[in-house]
Amino acid sequence: MSRQGVTLIGLGPMGQAMVRALLAAGHPVTVWNRTPGKADGLVAEGAVRAATVADALAANELVVLSLTDYAAMYAVLEPAAAALDGRVVVNLSSDTPEQARAGAEWAARHGARYLTGGVQVPARLIGQPGSATFYSGPEDVFEAHRATLEVLTEADHRGADPGLSQVYYQALMTVFWTTMTAHLQAQALVGAHGVTAAEYLPYAVQAAETAAYFLPGIAKDVEAGRYPGDEGTLAMCAASAEHALHAARDAGLDTTVPAALAALFGRGVAEGHGAESFTSLVEVLRKPAA
Ligand code: NDP
Repeated sequence: MSRQGVTLIGLGPMGQAMVRALLAAGHPVTVWNRTPGKADGLVAEGAVRAATVADALAANELVVLSLTDYAAMYAVLEPAAAALDGRVVVNLSSDTPEQARAGAEWAARHGARYLTGGVQVPARLIGQPGSATFYSGPEDVFEAHRATLEVLTEADHRGADPGLSQVYYQALMTVFWTTMTAHLQAQALVGAHGVTAAEYLPYAVQAAETAAYFLPGIAKDVEAGRYPGDEGTLAMCAASAEHALHAARDAGLDTTVPAALAALFGRGVAEGHGAESFTSLVEVLRKPAA
């Protein structure tokens, strides 16, 4: 059976990995990239280089975008927008839910059906079992192309609202970047006291596992809108956050991250949540800082 042809626009590390996975699965792939040289290796491996964006759009019904953001999508597709009519555009570029919804309306105005997606794994895991992507947009469009999209990663359709994939994706990115930065901050702190990264590693892993233990309790409190402080209060957590800040300051480290945390916890106490649980901070986070 001949495999569905795919056009892939955007050949950063992610787009290149996607092209390779599609080629390996036997899909004909047409590629285009602003910097044409990035297609050279892929063409040697069997991809077809489109001379123009319009040619790339004309080559296949299914068009996957792997660009830095939505501004890049408009920069690439606006000049060739007439060729979007009848295409299925799957935009796997990261951006905000609002941008995703506006992009879907823009694509519809040009006659394209449109899915958004947020890839949850690094480029090297594309095509590997256990990798996943959040999708959203019309379910019939998703189902029609699901088999091809699952060559890239497992496909998790979150709903018809085109913003939803980015809601889930940016939620995970919020956790990812804050967690990874916290681990770097911890490494800087132990390193300032002569503890090596390898010596600290088992405790870093333990910290990550401890976070998972707390998640169901956080979800329960947030869902109920009740934050009982019987196992520990926000006032205690605020004092702890101050200790972490002072430890960073005493070690001569950058204090951006611990200072932000201490300020946030302090705000929670100032707003009357001191006797409640740490989870009451969600009430503070739900509104912009004054
Ligand atoms: P890069 O930013 O390295 O490359 C993205 C592509 O966007 C390149 O082809 C680049 O073209 C193109 N581009 C950017 N701006 C413009 C513009 N103004 N006009 C035309 N083309 C433009 O990203 P990645 O490949 O690493 O990732 C792609 C997407 O996937 C991003 O949204 C990223 O957040 C997401 N993602 C990436 C992961 C990863 O591990 N890399 C993991 C999960 C998600 P050129 O080559 O000419 O610069």
